[in-house]
Amino acid sequence: MSAGPDVPEGGERVFVGLGANLGEARQTVLRALDDLTRLPETCRVACSALYRSAPVDAIGPDFVNAVAELRTGLSPMALLQALQAIEQASGRQRPYRNAPRTLDLDLLLFGQRQLTASELTLPHPRLHLRAFVLRPLLDLAPDLRHPVLGVLQPFLGALADQSLQRLENPPAGDRVARQRGSRPPATG
Ligand code: ADP
Ligand code: MG
Repeated sequence: MSAGPDVPEGGERVFVGLGANLGEARQTVLRALDDLTRLPETCRVACSALYRSAPVDAIGPDFVNAVAELRTGLSPMALLQALQAIEQASGRQRPYRNAPRTLDLDLLLFGQRQLTASELTLPHPRLHLRAFVLRPLLDLAPDLRHPVLGVLQPFLGALADQSLQRLENPPAGDRVARQRGSRPPATG
């Protein structure tokens, strides 16, 4: 487990979606996965494989996506702000809605909490509609439950027409990569 020195006992189980489609997207996602290991009161428990997806409701090059599982003692808002600081450090700009982005970090699930503020909606309202989120999320936690929708696995079938290509295994050092003995990296 990648843990900082001040990780709390217990804490909440959190999933973060990562996406990038500008510049060196793969490097940006890998760097952000690394940045997640240094958040205060937080440990990164696992990373999914990296995936490539075609833009959905957006324009620009293909995205590189992944999902990370964290355990955190931060509040949802404090974690969102920390994620936005990582986005900013990657040069993220928001010229218009759904613009191509150097890095997008979305808070997908924060335990079973529900929030409907505009600055933070939990669970993320589109997590069950996008293969590039749901596939890596369920790779990490196949039995994962959504506080409103229940078991998420059945939602994947409806997303089969969304383009998604598995790129490579998770970064070394994550519990899931070691436990599941994933296949070696695919080329391309
Ligand atoms: P996108 O919806 O494409 O991810 P942005 O990353 O630009 O768009 O996010 C727009 C706003 O969405 C952010 O300012 C943030 O406050 C808000 N937001 C609401 N819920 C969430 C969430 N669960 N995760 C991340 N951002 C969220
Ligand atoms: Mg976002």
